[in-house]
Amino acid sequence: MANLTLVQGDITAQSVDAIVNAANSSLLGGGGVDGAIHRKGGPEILEACRALRASHYGKGLPTGRAVATTAGRLDARWVIHTVGPVWSATEDRSGLLASCYRESLAVADELGARSVAFPAISTGIYGWPMDDGARIAYETVQAARTGVEGVRFVLFDERSYETFAARLP
Ligand code: ADP
Repeated sequence: MANLTLVQGDITAQSVDAIVNAANSSLLGGGGVDGAIHRKGGPEILEACRALRASHYGKGLPTGRAVATTAGRLDARWVIHTVGPVWSATEDRSGLLASCYRESLAVADELGARSVAFPAISTGIYGWPMDDGARIAYETVQAARTGVEGVRFVLFDERSYETFAARLP
């Protein structure tokens, strides 16, 4: 089982094998973590995303799936892009959010990544409640059979850090 750590800060400043991006299905960039990763990682990442769209994901990367590209100028070998579900008060989409963590770790395994940094997927623009997002993140990562040795959750602000810290297994 991967060792879990928490840090408060910017995911684009992490030195790890793979940085997970809370992307959108277009893979063509967006706000939040996605915007920060493309800004700091440079145009190589977007080029790789465009190529993936053209070759495999003409209709977009489905929610819950994950795919890797170069990390460009980031201090990482890969960015793993995953598409979180938009929060719904009427429909249980937690299986899709769990899938993001599971699929990202599966991609990390295929790459041979040993250390992976995750943001709190879906908890920004997509509106997922932070404490439920933390619960799903921990449950899924703990249940995963993975060769990844270190999973670092990177929480952007103090409040999200405290919420994740309170639920840390
Ligand atoms: P989503 O569309 O999946 O909700 P967002 O990028 O809007 O994705 O937000 C996901 C989480 O990442 C939010 O909790 C947000 O505060 C946080 N976040 C935003 N920018 C960064 C960053 N540079 N590093 C780490 N976390 C970030």
